[in-house]
Amino acid sequence: MPIIKQADLIQSVADALQYISYYHAPDFIQAMADAYEREESPAAKDAIRQILVNSRMCAEGHRPICQDTGIVTVFAKVGMNVRWNAEMSLAEMINEGVRRAYNHPDNKLRASIVADPAFDRKNTHDNTPAVIHIDLVPGDEVEIAVAAKGGGSENKAALTMLNPSDSIVDWILETVPEMGAGWCPPGMLGIGIGGTAEKAVVLAKESLFEPIDIHEIRARGPKTKLEALRLEILDKVNALGIGAQGLGGLTTVLDVKIKDYPTHAASLPVAVIPNCAATRHAHFVLNGSGPATLEPPSLDLWPKLEYQPSSDARRVNLDTLTREEVASWQPGERLLLSGKMLTGRDAAHKRLSQIIEAGKPLPAGLDFKNRVIYYVGPVDPVKGEVVGPAGPTTATRMDKFTELMLAKTGLIAMVGKAERGPAAIESIRKHGAAYLMAVGGAAYLVSKAIRASRIVAFEDLGMEAIYEFEVRDMPVTVAVDARGVSVHETGPAEWRARIGGIPVRVG
Ligand code: SF4
Repeated sequence: MPIIKQADLIQSVADALQYISYYHAPDFIQAMADAYEREESPAAKDAIRQILVNSRMCAEGHRPICQDTGIVTVFAKVGMNVRWNAEMSLAEMINEGVRRAYNHPDNKLRASIVADPAFDRKNTHDNTPAVIHIDLVPGDEVEIAVAAKGGGSENKAALTMLNPSDSIVDWILETVPEMGAGWCPPGMLGIGIGGTAEKAVVLAKESLFEPIDIHEIRARGPKTKLEALRLEILDKVNALGIGAQGLGGLTTVLDVKIKDYPTHAASLPVAVIPNCAATRHAHFVLNGSGPATLEPPSLDLWPKLEYQPSSDARRVNLDTLTREEVASWQPGERLLLSGKMLTGRDAAHKRLSQIIEAGKPLPAGLDFKNRVIYYVGPVDPVKGEVVGPAGPTTATRMDKFTELMLAKTGLIAMVGKAERGPAAIESIRKHGAAYLMAVGGAAYLVSKAIRASRIVAFEDLGMEAIYEFEVRDMPVTVAVDARGVSVHETGPAEWRARIGGIPVRVG
């Protein structure tokens, strides 16, 4: 009878989380490389190139693929013949592994979990607790699957209770465009069908742990109705033309996974959860012989790509930026930013808005006039780094603060990822400002453009504090220009038309 030691489980969870923070799985690298080869949209191809170069840099440097190092989800299948040499509960052991992984001195990961979610939202500082699903199964082993899921993609999860006669495909085709680009496509869709409301969501999450194999199904032809449905959804979603980072292009999803379960005769629950460009999951088995070891992937798996800023990109000096210069930027134009920019995301914006609305002055030394703000929450630096991986966070969450910031602070441009909503676009147009987009899922690559960093305000907010970054040649794309033209609207529309379009029922 196998005896599983507490220390082995903790160590294995910690090792797996470190591993997935910097290694993409081989199937994901291959699928992304294939998408790069196929891509015809220059903007989308450039974004996928950044994702692949970032991925290889992270594998070599053992630093996180994305600054959002995720909320940990664990599916544990515990063999019923297993005995334990442990004082902690299984959940406590898993959480101890999370704690150890996220505070690893050589590769500290970002602690993103907040307790008291409806009120104080206080960071737990060690990324615990994980979300844990435990199943008792026949057998002599403990099988563990761990994932670290970014908030940007998790926020786009959706659940519906369809009528049994409704079309699942229609609902997916209505839902995916509504997700926008905040889930950092290209990635995967996990779909759960059946059971009850909560079962469908868990099925959707669990399906994302399966390897990418849609190319094999396409080559041999689908053998089951579910495989045929996966192919149909994949092709129809890609025909929407959303593309990498929502810029318009051929590949929005690399695979579609589906798990199903019997349901009530009156019900058809369907859940969809997207997995982003920072797809991170690993599996291991404990059988009493010690901690699990995961083999590093061969560096030969990555295509031989480098990232050189495009030669036709416009160089912008942030230290002398004017409203007139911002007005001359064209939608889709690539810029290389150099100079000083401020940072800020959700918590800093909330605090800024409270200060401004109360008519109080901003903290000493904080001045947004003619400046650019970067929506980011970086990973802490290690070993002489200026800053850890520091990719953009979803700009849409800052939409509700945009009018206030542009009207009251003198801010003239913002950098983030994903699309802006109609009200924010109208504010950008009204104030002659601009919104620039960096590539989500290329955080380590982006951090290499940051040459200096200092905290300017709200130090108590940790990674959400306001920093001043000094950047050199930071690559961004003009996503909303001063006239209010959004490439997240024009890009997908253009590529949907080019792909040939498919009838999509809206509303
Ligand atoms: S790739 Fe995008 S959605 Fe995924 S963790 Fe990073 S920022 Fe979040």
